[in-house]
Amino acid sequence: MNDRIARLVERIDDPLLVTNPTNVVYLVGFESSNAALLVERDRVRLFTDFRYIEAARAIDGVDVVQTRRDVIGEIADTLSGRIAFEAATLTYALYEVLRDGGIETVPTKGVVEGLRAVKDEQELDTIRRACAITDSVFERLTEVPFVGRTERDVSWDLTQLFHEEGGQGLAFESIVGAGPTGARPHARAGDRRIEAGELVVIDAGTTIDGYASDYTRTFATGPLGDEAKEAYETVLLAQQAALDGIRAGITGVDADLLARRVIDESPFAGTLGHGLGHGLGLDIHEAPRLSTESNDTLVPGNVVTVEPGIYLEGRFGIRIEDDVVVTEDGVENFTGFRKDLIEVG
Ligand code: ZN
Ligand code: ZN
Repeated sequence: MNDRIARLVERIDDPLLVTNPTNVVYLVGFESSNAALLVERDRVRLFTDFRYIEAARAIDGVDVVQTRRDVIGEIADTLSGRIAFEAATLTYALYEVLRDGGIETVPTKGVVEGLRAVKDEQELDTIRRACAITDSVFERLTEVPFVGRTERDVSWDLTQLFHEEGGQGLAFESIVGAGPTGARPHARAGDRRIEAGELVVIDAGTTIDGYASDYTRTFATGPLGDEAKEAYETVLLAQQAALDGIRAGITGVDADLLARRVIDESPFAGTLGHGLGHGLGLDIHEAPRLSTESNDTLVPGNVVTVEPGIYLEGRFGIRIEDDVVVTEDGVENFTGFRKDLIEVG
């Protein structure tokens, strides 16, 4: 029984059927699109079909059970009694299969996700490596002018650069939002040609051994108007306020407010339409949340993004995003790349 399973066992009353594929990876290091893990006090069973069975047998500390393709159907046919399941992952249709098979189903939420939110030293090192690669990529990206190229061209460059710098994959499809596109926080890179004298929001990250980095920088393609410059300074101040104030014990709501207050006391009040940040790890968005809707309180070992922004519809957007680990008395910032306003031409 590994450490993670041991900690999970401390938190559960009933056998827990883990069906979230990322949670299965976290707990036993097994990657599959069709597997379930049943964690009990004294044993762990890994159910999967023929396609994954050889890989499953290489996993230490689990009893492997080969099932038909319908993993949950077979579990319903062969097991009985109380079984807790992950309500955020198991579909209603599969829940019905368990219930109709006579299993006494107990919904749970966020049990494994709660463990994942606190990173161990090895996980922190992996995220540091992903961040170091991302630093190099942003450095190299700014060496080539943006003007005249499309958002999509720059996005393809990012993919190539992550590969050259040792990234194993993209953490998510890179966002390149020039001018008005940047005002939509999750706009994809499109065919728009980047013009001189506008802002370009670039949000990108890579994965190392499954762990993600997630950076945003906003660049200028030439001299900007006073309003855009003031907005940039405001986002920078808001982010610094959050980086200075975040520490173990602060709530996700209060962390969000550190930055939101700066923006709401500026001429750009009300333009930060999303939360300040999110947990980062095997998933690009995971616990804890830093937002007005968060129920979390930060603890040492939480890795979170700090990403305030200002979005002026139809005109421009600005976001600055770093990845940090929460410590007892502050944060350690994994993001090395500079954040003064850079002109890329
Ligand atoms: Zn991001
Ligand atoms: Zn993010």
